[in-house]
Amino acid sequence: MFETLSAEIIAIGSELLAPDRSDTNSLWLTEKLNSIGIEVKLKTIVGDDDERLEEAIRDASRRSKVVITTGGLGPTEDDITRKVAARALGRRLLLDETILADLRQRFLAFGHVMPERNSRQAMVIEDAEVLANPNGSAPGIFIEHDGVAIILLPGPPREMRPMFEDHVLPRLVVRAGAVKVVRRMLRVAGLGESALDEKIAPIYTQYENPQTTILFNQTEVEIHLTARGRSEEEAEALLDRLSEQLEERLGDAVFSFAGEKMEEVVGLKLSVGRYTLAVAESCTGGLISQRLTDVAGSSKYFVEGVVAYSNETKTRALGVKTALLREHGAVSKEVAEAMAEGVRKRAKTDFGLSITGIAGPDGGSDEKPVGLVYIALADDAHTKSRKLMLPGDRQLIRWRASQAALDLLRRRLI
Ligand code: ATP
Ligand code: MG
Repeated sequence: MFETLSAEIIAIGSELLAPDRSDTNSLWLTEKLNSIGIEVKLKTIVGDDDERLEEAIRDASRRSKVVITTGGLGPTEDDITRKVAARALGRRLLLDETILADLRQRFLAFGHVMPERNSRQAMVIEDAEVLANPNGSAPGIFIEHDGVAIILLPGPPREMRPMFEDHVLPRLVVRAGAVKVVRRMLRVAGLGESALDEKIAPIYTQYENPQTTILFNQTEVEIHLTARGRSEEEAEALLDRLSEQLEERLGDAVFSFAGEKMEEVVGLKLSVGRYTLAVAESCTGGLISQRLTDVAGSSKYFVEGVVAYSNETKTRALGVKTALLREHGAVSKEVAEAMAEGVRKRAKTDFGLSITGIAGPDGGSDEKPVGLVYIALADDAHTKSRKLMLPGDRQLIRWRASQAALDLLRRRLI
């Protein structure tokens, strides 16, 4: 296998350490570098401080094959990057007459004489290449140093970006060996992050390429796979091999292969099967109905949603017997099932889906704690229910409950 180039970025400027300005250059650069298969392993923000910067550049060039700095190339006293980089690498700083003449010319074009301090922008590190800056006065610098590429770019994004794309990217593509990077994302239902990791770590840890990351992205548990190859086909083949193994291990828990949301997956299955659905919600207050109707074309299958928050409504709108509520309580398997059956009957649909639970923070008891949720699904022959104990705050419990209910329906439709 080929080696992946590792890069690091140093953002220079005391203003970037203050709360009002953020280092967006490194985010932009990371995306560009990733796209050509170069992995960013570290980024640093350094103020306009000679010593710290010298240390940062020296450490970086020891660790990484590609080091990119942004900022501090201007003409002012606090623009120290050129000088400090030269010192860190043990190279001299030389005056480049061509750049100097060019700078003077720039100022003349605007009817000014170049201030002497601008001449420092014509200082170039020994044996380095100069990168033209058509959008500003400070040229960039590209240095080959013991097999490491060290690249000094200006701070302003409108100067840095074109310089990177025109002069740096093409050189790095050659260095990276035209590596193609492809990504895939699988979404998983019914498993938390750690439970998921326990199941699949034995598989994915066998591979360095693709790389696997598991993350909980606000609402979804996702597996992100990134593969590198000499061609897109090669990288895709690597992804296929790993993702097949993961799918085999996880079975129906994987519900999305191309970024689709749960409500889209369920909607598609309902519409392919020409099924109709009605939903009865208590603790989710309409969340399932909202998610389902967020999907364009949902009127084909979504018929009705009832938010039955009070017991009285559960009885009046869904026909849940008062005795059942009294005997088992509103948050119970029996009531969830009666709600699903009731809403199905009321809306004359193929499926009735229901939720009842305690989202908190109040209302829990020892017997029925916060996070206890029952979901049920009724069709023409059966009613199936599940008891869930969901972690999180009120919002998260509600969201997880809606996800689990939609997932119950999805699995029924497989
Ligand atoms: P100049 O010739 O304009 O002085 P420079 O290379 O010296 O360019 P800096 O003085 O460090 O760059 O920064 C100039 C401006 O560029 C900053 O005020 C800021 O707006 C922007 N900038 C610098 N670094 C970053 C960064 N990492 N992310 C986003 N913006 C940045
Ligand atoms: Mg500056």
